[in-house]
Amino acid sequence: MSKQLRVAIVGAGPAGIYAGNILASKYPEVDIDLFDSLPAPYGLIRYGVAPDHPRIKGIVNSLHEMLDGGHIRFYGNVEFGKDLNLADIKQHYHAVIFATGAIKDASLNIPGVDLEGSYGAADFVSWYDGHPDFPRTWPLEAKEVAVLGNGNVALDVARVLAKHADDMLSTDIPANVYEGLKKSPVTDVHVFGRRGPAQIKFTPIELRELGEIEDVDLVLYDEDFPEGWFNEDAEGVTNQHKVMARIIEGWREEQHEKTDEPASRRLHLHFFASPVEILGDNKVTGIKFERTALNPDGASVHGTGEFVEYPVQAVYRAIGYFGSELPEVPFNEKLGVIRNEGGRVIDESGAQVPAIYATGWIKRGPVGLIGHTKSDATETIENLLADLDNLADPATPDSADLLATLDSRGVKYTNWNGWLALNEYELALGAADTSHVERERVKVVDRDEQVEISRTGAAV
Ligand SMILES: Cc1cc2nc3c(=O)[nH]c(=O)nc-3n(C[C@H](O)[C@H](O)[C@H](O)COP(=O)(O)OP(=O)(O)OC[C@H]3O[C@@H](n4cnc5c(N)ncnc54)[C@H](O)[C@@H]3O)c2cc1C
Repeated sequence: MSKQLRVAIVGAGPAGIYAGNILASKYPEVDIDLFDSLPAPYGLIRYGVAPDHPRIKGIVNSLHEMLDGGHIRFYGNVEFGKDLNLADIKQHYHAVIFATGAIKDASLNIPGVDLEGSYGAADFVSWYDGHPDFPRTWPLEAKEVAVLGNGNVALDVARVLAKHADDMLSTDIPANVYEGLKKSPVTDVHVFGRRGPAQIKFTPIELRELGEIEDVDLVLYDEDFPEGWFNEDAEGVTNQHKVMARIIEGWREEQHEKTDEPASRRLHLHFFASPVEILGDNKVTGIKFERTALNPDGASVHGTGEFVEYPVQAVYRAIGYFGSELPEVPFNEKLGVIRNEGGRVIDESGAQVPAIYATGWIKRGPVGLIGHTKSDATETIENLLADLDNLADPATPDSADLLATLDSRGVKYTNWNGWLALNEYELALGAADTSHVERERVKVVDRDEQVEISRTGAAV
């Protein structure tokens, strides 16, 4: 008979849930406890994915079923490094898998980056998605805004900034977010990419959406489209690139033929623009770029020595996320990931650290869609199972004992039934809001309120 295994997973985003599910299906003799510092599960699906992207719901339903299956026990509001440490885990489990993702903005080192009105996209996303640990108000005072970056997060941020608040009302945005967006005086949102339109890192669905926003005109600039700007025979060109090139060309044609009434807001896409300075004394008043041009490799760019300035009153930096270091876990500060090989955690010398594994964005860096975290998890679990004979038995193989420890530390942890209660509560809030349009859910933001509803089934 196989040995009964006990595994802790830290991080209940998609990576942690997929890892638990794959582990339970490959090795049924396993007890899995899944911890998250937030009271509710799903990580960046709840606090990253844009509220107007409800198609992600299908993925949430499947993750819900994985947690509802009874093989994985969820405990929320438990932070590794504060409420729980490595010694606790070693005492109660054979192994731990860290799936703690990334929530911080990667840094951009240019003058003016700390001016008032210069924001990290991750902070803005956390605000509009109602993350409990972020301020409830957001200074939406700018008429002209720059968004730096050419990935999907830049598009999310630009779309949310450009959209009229009423067009967000069918989503799960909290009331304070709707009120904030409603007051926004924005007229022009400019998205800037360092490279060209053929090098964008968007995905086609997200790009196409930009052309479908109510009362927002899309603006492209001829100077960003050199002759033959898209070569479909170039190395590395995928079908996705071809689809996106067709979308962009379609927009350019429409723009030249446009005769209908102008919209009240505009979303501008700029390319070949590398930010060199955010301008202003105390507050942002503009942004300066160096124009770039493609190198012969057709992928990288170089500065041309030509500079342009745009008057903007706010800058959002959507140039990537960055993982956070966990106490006692080897970390690569340059890449912002846990040091690992195939999910096996290694120390600085490259030696494996026994019984510690990583998966998801904290394993390979903050790129890729939710689906990619599944293949990540498969690799990590295969390596964990290959190490099975080397995993030492824990001294106290008992979850109840660990929960008693958490209780004694005053940790108000939530569990799966608690999430079911909070989920029902949020759905009921959505159903009760008949003031505007039909809403499926309204998120509860406050952490204590979430914990209270989860632990008692009632609101505070
Ligand atoms: C703004 C944005 C929009 C996105 N939109 C899409 C989209 O539309 N479609 C798509 O497919 N993908 C999208 N993605 C990508 C997707 O969110 C990621 O691929 C995925 O969430 C990564 O999963 P993860 O589990 O590694 O990390 P996360 O989802 O970040 O989960 C990590 C979890 O670990 C927890 N945690 C962190 N530290 C600790 C600790 N010390 N103790 C306990 N728990 C901890 C966190 O609370 C979190 O719940 C988006 C990403 C961003 C940033």
